[in-house]
Amino acid sequence: KTETEWAELCGLLPSWLEASRQQAAYGKPASYIPELAHAPADALGVTIMAPDGQKISAGECGHAFTLQSISKVFTLLLALMDQGEEGVFRKVGMEPTGDDFNSMLKLELVEPGIPFNPLINAGAIVISSLIRGKTPEEKTERILTFFRTIAGDASLTYNQAVYASESATAHRNRSLAYFLKDNRVLEEDVEEVLDVYFKHCSIEVNCHHIARMALVLALNGKEPDTGRELIPRRYVQIAKSFMITCGMYNASGEFAIRVGLPAKSGVAGGILALVPGKYGIGVVGPALNDKGNSVAGVHLLQTMSEACDWSIF
Ligand code: GLN
Repeated sequence: KTETEWAELCGLLPSWLEASRQQAAYGKPASYIPELAHAPADALGVTIMAPDGQKISAGECGHAFTLQSISKVFTLLLALMDQGEEGVFRKVGMEPTGDDFNSMLKLELVEPGIPFNPLINAGAIVISSLIRGKTPEEKTERILTFFRTIAGDASLTYNQAVYASESATAHRNRSLAYFLKDNRVLEEDVEEVLDVYFKHCSIEVNCHHIARMALVLALNGKEPDTGRELIPRRYVQIAKSFMITCGMYNASGEFAIRVGLPAKSGVAGGILALVPGKYGIGVVGPALNDKGNSVAGVHLLQTMSEACDWSIF
């Protein structure tokens, strides 16, 4: 990191954050998972973490929220480590859809009926089935262990209320999963796979956690403090490519133009973003736009990226 940029960020982040907070009025928290509807609509928090472990935070950076779709990046990485590229890409494609994250469209279009990519719900459910483990409990435990290492917090776990709420109302994800089972893309018990999926979506974090998870990706899989390899570089490269093309759902093109950083959002309002080689960034703002991305969060990332000239393009 450069000291002048860091000093500028320290000075300006609080006022940028308050300006972006105004944008929350243009969105609202997700309610299709009933438990998510209680989130404070105008909360906004951010943490930026540098490789030396220094952090800058502003707003409600300690606000606890569930990873939701942000978890899909890391289950993809674990599936790659478990099955290799060939094992994973037999079951999911590499292309964006241009449709909503939970869309049923196009499931039949790619031969042989595999989901377009691992970041839409259909693809992420297939990825959950590829995590090694004899039982759903063992798979969930392996996912938790991996996420705890990446987030640097051994106490990370899933939020029982959000998990139960999603599991009770996930009619659409169930229909996607049963369709995939019928196509034999999903080979395991559908309800067991969904249980793993709902649990990893419900893992509870704050901005510091996702900033650290992002930093590991920014460092191509290396642990910030020790330099130890946590994830092979090639797999991080794959994950970052998906974050650019599909990470912000069907707003990924606009995000690439306006912000220009690999990122992944979730319907609880979190966004994980990274400046390659430099910073991990965690943002949360529960009010979402119609594409399912945090309105204030995207606004804040755009402000920061423009001011610091972070676009990778
Ligand atoms: N658990 C959520 C779902 O399956 C994740 C979706 C999201 O964050 N976009 O609907």
